[in-house]
Amino acid sequence: MKIDTLIVGQGLAGSLLAWQLLDRGQRVLVVDRDEQITSSKVAAGLVTPIAGSRFNVPPELGERLLFAKQFYWEKEEATSAQFFHHKRIARVFRNGKEAAAWDKRLKNDGDDLKPYHEPLRIDETAFHAPHSGFEMKEGGWLDVPAFLEATRQHLLERASYAIASLDSADVIVGKEAGPDGSVRWKNIVADRIIFAEGWKGNQNRFFDWLPMKPAAGDILHLEIPELEEETRIVNCGGWLLPLGNGLFRAGSTYRHEFDTEGPTAEGRREVLEKLGNITPHEGRIIKHEAAVRPIIRRSQIFMGRHPSHEEVILFNGLGSKGVLNGPWHASRLVEHLLDGRPLPESSDLRENLL
Ligand SMILES: Cc1cc2nc3c(=O)[nH]c(=O)nc-3n(C[C@H](O)[C@H](O)[C@H](O)COP(=O)(O)OP(=O)(O)OC[C@H]3O[C@@H](n4cnc5c(N)ncnc54)[C@H](O)[C@@H]3O)c2cc1C
Repeated sequence: MKIDTLIVGQGLAGSLLAWQLLDRGQRVLVVDRDEQITSSKVAAGLVTPIAGSRFNVPPELGERLLFAKQFYWEKEEATSAQFFHHKRIARVFRNGKEAAAWDKRLKNDGDDLKPYHEPLRIDETAFHAPHSGFEMKEGGWLDVPAFLEATRQHLLERASYAIASLDSADVIVGKEAGPDGSVRWKNIVADRIIFAEGWKGNQNRFFDWLPMKPAAGDILHLEIPELEEETRIVNCGGWLLPLGNGLFRAGSTYRHEFDTEGPTAEGRREVLEKLGNITPHEGRIIKHEAAVRPIIRRSQIFMGRHPSHEEVILFNGLGSKGVLNGPWHASRLVEHLLDGRPLPESSDLRENLL
């Protein structure tokens, strides 16, 4: 079978690329192991425009946020599924230091911040908020498993998806791939192969030099009937995401050192401690999940062509902000591959990782 692009991995990264390549009329095949637990299947999927304890707002935020929202809404329309949920975020200050940092940020960057915040309204019997906070207007969350499933159906309808585990040792590249393309894997011949394998992205003969710094994270699913009326995401170091009918997700932890990819007692304790800083209501735990985030350098996405094999491409490092930053980066990578446009310098793997 001859195709244009073979994508390895149908997590968030591979899905974003597949959509944008199909939109450009490319013949695509996505292969995925169909594992039960992956970063994308466990992720909270939060889009938090003003993040971190210094409340920095990068200059590119507005463009990326708009791009992401338009992308998800467009794909909802194309699949008749719902996965992007616009939600306000009640950002409660953890302490006086954070309150002071916010005041300073408002003084310095008040105009840039204006579209994103409003004064905080909070019921202090339901939430701890002794240092006050602010409300973010442009937040939300992606139901990542629902997005993956809608994408998978879309790919299946186009004969563009296969359950398989690709071993990079079986991939032949360059002239040896034959006269019809530059990449051969089993009976598939393609012009290029894109590895979107997530946190194990350096267990691959082409990218074994990739400086992955993965971080495991735990999330709890809870029932908290006392907070049933709350519709906003509440963030105070940890976060609480309302799903409706008194059901919530709470998280999360961030461990670079981990013995297991699965949930741990320590992770559970840490999430409960974070929840205790948000609300006095303890709730009932329904489920405890954990997975590993693909991180290379902070939450910076790295992408581009392999240093010695032009037809071998990487898209990885989505980190904790993949839902917000992923769509824009996938579109830049597609423009690079199909139109020869330069990659953004800060994400170009050749500029940063070699
Ligand atoms: C606890 C937790 C909370 C998170 N919260 C957020 C959040 O609030 N907001 C946010 O934006 N991000 C969040 N993230 C991060 C987010 O999940 C990731 O950035 C993103 O989902 C990574 O997607 P990916 O496609 O790169 O990797 P993955 O989701 O790991 O997908 C890789 C896919 O490739 C497949 N695969 C790998 N190698 C092969 C191979 N050789 N052959 C076939 N298939 C292969 C895997 O099976 C998998 O399906 C969170 C993550 C965790 C763990």
